[in-house]
Amino acid sequence: MDSAKLRTEGKKMIDIVADYWDGIRQRKPLSDVKPGYINFLVPPRPPLGPESWEKIYQDLEKVVFNGSSHWNHPQFFAYCPTGISYHSIMADILSSGLSSIGFSWIACPSITELEKASLDWLVVLMDLPEYFKNSHPGAGCGIIQSSGSDSTLMAIMTARAAKVDEVKSQPTVYKWIAESAVGKTFRRLFYWQREDSESYDSTDVITAYYHDPTVFQHFVMYFSDIGHSSIEKGAMLAGVRYRKLKSTRSYLGNYGLHPDTLEKAIKQDKARGWIPFMLVATVGTTSTCGVDQIDELGPICKREGLYLHVDAAYAGSFAFCQEYRYLTRGLEHADSYNLNLHKAGMINFDCAPLWFKNGTYAARYFNVDPVYLAHQYQSTSTDYRHLEIPLGRRFRSLKVWFILRNYGVEKIKEYQKKTVHLALFFSKIIIEDDRFELFTPPHLGVTTFRLKNHSNADNEKLCAAINRDRRVYLVPSTIHGTFFLRICVGSPLTNEDDMRNTKKVIFEIADSLFKDVSM
Ligand SMILES: *Cc1c(COP(=O)(O)O)cnc(C)c1O
Repeated sequence: MDSAKLRTEGKKMIDIVADYWDGIRQRKPLSDVKPGYINFLVPPRPPLGPESWEKIYQDLEKVVFNGSSHWNHPQFFAYCPTGISYHSIMADILSSGLSSIGFSWIACPSITELEKASLDWLVVLMDLPEYFKNSHPGAGCGIIQSSGSDSTLMAIMTARAAKVDEVKSQPTVYKWIAESAVGKTFRRLFYWQREDSESYDSTDVITAYYHDPTVFQHFVMYFSDIGHSSIEKGAMLAGVRYRKLKSTRSYLGNYGLHPDTLEKAIKQDKARGWIPFMLVATVGTTSTCGVDQIDELGPICKREGLYLHVDAAYAGSFAFCQEYRYLTRGLEHADSYNLNLHKAGMINFDCAPLWFKNGTYAARYFNVDPVYLAHQYQSTSTDYRHLEIPLGRRFRSLKVWFILRNYGVEKIKEYQKKTVHLALFFSKIIIEDDRFELFTPPHLGVTTFRLKNHSNADNEKLCAAINRDRRVYLVPSTIHGTFFLRICVGSPLTNEDDMRNTKKVIFEIADSLFKDVSM
């Protein structure tokens, strides 16, 4: 394939994608394929020689599209939405076309610099704390991660390192180890790595100074029992103890972490000799779009020396709109903050901004400096590799830059307001004739509901039947033993008719399942 062929075939591929979008309404949100379906369509061995594009195109429908869940189908309400805009498709083409990798400034200056600039645009548009700006003279900074999970893990690793640093710098045994002559010998024996460390030889066993398990084995972190599973996974990966604190209905009625619950846990854990080091608060939980009130939790974290990370993966994008700015209230207490533009921000996966209050400072925790990565501008530029898990990184900021320039923030706001309106609309019509009740008040694009006066088992049966039917796709959730159904509106194609139709489908299925039961 040469560049001339790229011109012709590439254009055809764009047509295939455009046709997919034009026809998405005619599909079902969830495919009927069964595990292993591909074995009937794709031979066990690759072709002996190259095949034509025509032949490959012919297979796309049955291999790819037919086996795909259509996340932006107007009746796909499962999980959280994934953003979509043609602008991000164009940006991804350019990113792949450029095929550069921007782990350090010199590795691809435009990747680093456009990312810094476009993240600063977001700080302005969402009215986030000024010190998050890359252009701010302080230590704050923003970086685009691949996913919310990566963002939270980076935050946990940073919080862990910061606390290890703090513990080791206290005038205790750690200071003695780090600074006294005997301590130095001791350190040499145990090979503690410091920034000013001597060089090691291949027989040395290294314990990274800021990632010392003898220190963090005493740590404990907190999040609520409805915090995202990625927080728990992050804690596992970081090898720290964690507690999932019981949420209460309190704020907004959508479940969140009550400040008293946090205070009590900290007190208990300190009494047993543990070191509380972090709270991951959530703004917009997956189940009910609940909010942990950071303006109340923040001061507790500050007083108790806890790092505060705020996970707003889904809800955070809504801060483009003035009327949802309550979501970021208290953000000045946060040490780091993440949101996924690839959820409610109209940007295709992946685009997950993460901001640190002290990012340039945190970068030293993950500083590995092989000679082959060094460059002449490293003291005056940003090397994003220090604040992420992988080394390689694609040109994600193109998506932000394209959409904000050509589509404009007003259109994104319109989309967000529409999803909020549709969730509210659905919550009104689903309870119209009293067979269903709302489980929590609708919030942003999320509505939760259940069959009134029915058991969990009945509601589970209903949910399974709805998904078997395939016209609507949703996922359920449970909180403190109550099973409920959940709809998260996200496709830009969804309209009021789709919500009415969804209600009709749900009623029809409920009728067929429970016709003998008085509702
Ligand atoms: C979706 C979500 C995540 C995970 O985001 P990924 O980008 O899929 O890793 C984390 N937290 C919350 C609150 C979410 O809604």
